[in-house]
Amino acid sequence: MSIKPARTRFAPSPTGHLHLGGARTALYAYLLAKKTGGQFILRIEDTDLKRTVSGAEQEIMDGLRWLGLQYDEGPDIGGKHGPYRQTERRDIYQQHAKTLVEKGHAYPCFCTPDHLEKVRQEQMKRKENPHYDGTCRALAPDEAARRIASGEAYTIRFKMPQEGATVAHDHLRGDIVTENKQLNDQVILKTDGLPTYHLAAMVDDHEMEITHVLRGSEWLGTFPLHVNIVRAFGWDEPIWIHLSVFLKPSGKGKMSKRETAAAIKDGYSIFIKDMQELGFTPEGVLNWCALMGWGVAEDDVMTVEQMVGRFTIDSLTPSPAAINFQKLDHFNATHIRLFTTEDLAARLKPYFTREGLEVNDDVLLEMIPLIRERLTTLDDCLAFGAFFFREEVSPTAEDLVAKGLDAKQSAEIARKTYEILSSLPSIDHATAEPPMRAYVEQSGLNVNQVFGILRVATTGQKVSPPLFESMEIIGREKSLQRVKNAIEVLEKI
Ligand code: GLU
Repeated sequence: MSIKPARTRFAPSPTGHLHLGGARTALYAYLLAKKTGGQFILRIEDTDLKRTVSGAEQEIMDGLRWLGLQYDEGPDIGGKHGPYRQTERRDIYQQHAKTLVEKGHAYPCFCTPDHLEKVRQEQMKRKENPHYDGTCRALAPDEAARRIASGEAYTIRFKMPQEGATVAHDHLRGDIVTENKQLNDQVILKTDGLPTYHLAAMVDDHEMEITHVLRGSEWLGTFPLHVNIVRAFGWDEPIWIHLSVFLKPSGKGKMSKRETAAAIKDGYSIFIKDMQELGFTPEGVLNWCALMGWGVAEDDVMTVEQMVGRFTIDSLTPSPAAINFQKLDHFNATHIRLFTTEDLAARLKPYFTREGLEVNDDVLLEMIPLIRERLTTLDDCLAFGAFFFREEVSPTAEDLVAKGLDAKQSAEIARKTYEILSSLPSIDHATAEPPMRAYVEQSGLNVNQVFGILRVATTGQKVSPPLFESMEIIGREKSLQRVKNAIEVLEKI
């Protein structure tokens, strides 16, 4: 069976940060396009000028690239259906609004914001749902033409059918039936000549030959309007897919500003840029996102290539997904374990250099197998491995004193340790561990006391990767020097 190549789009408004919800929509749209040999398009929906945030568009593009969801057509790379920024498509929408008016599916509306507000207040007093009262729907066309010619400001409203019902089909939810008398004549072109989402998105999806519209379920409310607009033009409808909502981690209620702030306090975020800074990997983030709304096994570990292989729109689910940051940790850690050493080295290096450390690439490659299993986020590499790149470490006297012993006894152990290690031609796991263990045995001390002092002396910290393997990478000379320094610190107490 041959599958028709899908054309999908991610159509964010540049009104804030690219977040988890956007990334998931983009991912599914990308997967469908790639799975079917089609195209994935980025379209910037910037017609709400008041809400546009400067820098947001760039952040969206950077975020998609960081995630590895490269679009085939978009504002910065062009394509044969451009422009891909809606404010650059003004004429196209005006032309289409005019067509709808001519076909009797839309009409100019001269109601002022003040008048509309008054009507709204009255409707609320009567306990009615606020809706447009139809004042201008009833205007004769020549009367409307006269008012336009006289320079009166106007919007264009879509003329919703008033009888019967609208049946809109969502791929995940089936037919959604709405009584037309519940529907409202919405503005599709504003007084500034720019379209609202309802017109712009329908026109663009048609003109850009979008086959599948994947978008958030917040659009279900205006879905009947959208299908009516598409049908009024006489166009084929795309396949509509409204994705599930995200619930806050407790599973109760939607993610709100308060939950978002709480997540940030805990070292997590729903914003892609933050996740990047927090040391999450695109692989981990995408794997995590992918499973919130896709009915595959909850713990399936997949790369994007593997997702492309398995993806079908039939396996998406409309049920809400609770955000679980522990799972993000899990997927991130899991993918870190799957990267090649060279790949991981390239990703970790910036964390060290940002700390002002000079990174020796050979040391970096050698230390990775020691720390890899300990990393949940990439920036954990600093806690576990910065000491490999420091000329000296500065353990505190307090850390050097072993549990149950005093400074004098600890200094004695450090001196003995130095003696043993300096007698070895090289220091590594095979050469150093046996004599050190023999010393522990014969001294009657416990292994944590002796190895603890050595660990703090050579790495500068109480928790480190495997001790002797680490010393091997640090090197014989430097390791001995560090033990010597520790003896001095201990003797000073
Ligand atoms: N611009 C809309 C938004 O950001 C996009 C909805 C859609 O994908 O059609 O919510």
